[in-house]
Amino acid sequence: MDTKRNTGKETKKMVKNEMDLRFDARSENEAFARVAVAGFVSVLNPTLEEIEDVKTAVSEAVTNAVIHGYKEQGGTIEISCVLEKDLLKMEITDQGCGIENVEQAMEPMFTTGDAEERAGLGFAVMQSFMDKVKVSSTPGRGTRVTLTKRLDARA
Ligand code: ATP
Ligand code: MG
Repeated sequence: MDTKRNTGKETKKMVKNEMDLRFDARSENEAFARVAVAGFVSVLNPTLEEIEDVKTAVSEAVTNAVIHGYKEQGGTIEISCVLEKDLLKMEITDQGCGIENVEQAMEPMFTTGDAEERAGLGFAVMQSFMDKVKVSSTPGRGTRVTLTKRLDARA
């Protein structure tokens, strides 16, 4: 396997880079979303830890859209990623049922899901791995989760 690190030549020149993804809200696509986002940030030559943090946060947001937003009935999820220098911003959007009370939903251990399966910790996990988590939601219209993180680019 080629483990050579990117030399950073392209990274230095890169000021802004964008990616948009649209895919079906199926649990099988969670792994795909994680890998796609990891691939996108790899141009910055991030640490493995940074990649894992980003993958974990995206995975929680996508799982929420599949399970809560669309109640496992399917729909469309969009992920838009922007890298501006070393600042990563990702928006995960669904057009599902939306959230009545965002503040309450973000409280650790709050869940409307099956108590045996869900811990109510998805938003807490996103907050611990990312610098900022913003949730905007309209009941009946859908939810947008904005995750931002500064990556320690070693170009
Ligand atoms: P865990 O993530 O630990 O499995 P959880 O998904 O219930 O449990 P969070 O991810 O913190 O916990 O979400 C808290 C609650 O916010 C959910 O139970 C759900 O009510 C609501 N929620 C989160 N994301 C969405 C979404 N995209 N659409 C609708 N409701 C959502
Ligand atoms: Mg969750």
